[in-house]
Amino acid sequence: MNSPCELADVVRLFGNELSENEKLKPLQIKVMNKILQCRTAVLGGHKEVCDCCGSVRYRYNSCGDRHCPKCQAAKQAFGLTI
Ligand SMILES: [Zn+2]
Repeated sequence: MNSPCELADVVRLFGNELSENEKLKPLQIKVMNKILQCRTAVLGGHKEVCDCCGSVRYRYNSCGDRHCPKCQAAKQAFGLTI
């Protein structure tokens, strides 16, 4: 399910201001950066080939951070959450 507005959009718009005005912990800054980079060219990509029809598609890599809503949505879809 795609939302018209993602958390990455919010971080992109307000992340610098938040970093300047609040004392963020290094982990919080790291998570914000991962959310910004998730599924973009920054993290590279990979090729997927369908076992049935052989069709090929290229996808950007995920950040894998547990705080990232994109990664958590994927884990839920595949039943990987506890
Ligand atoms: Zn992610």
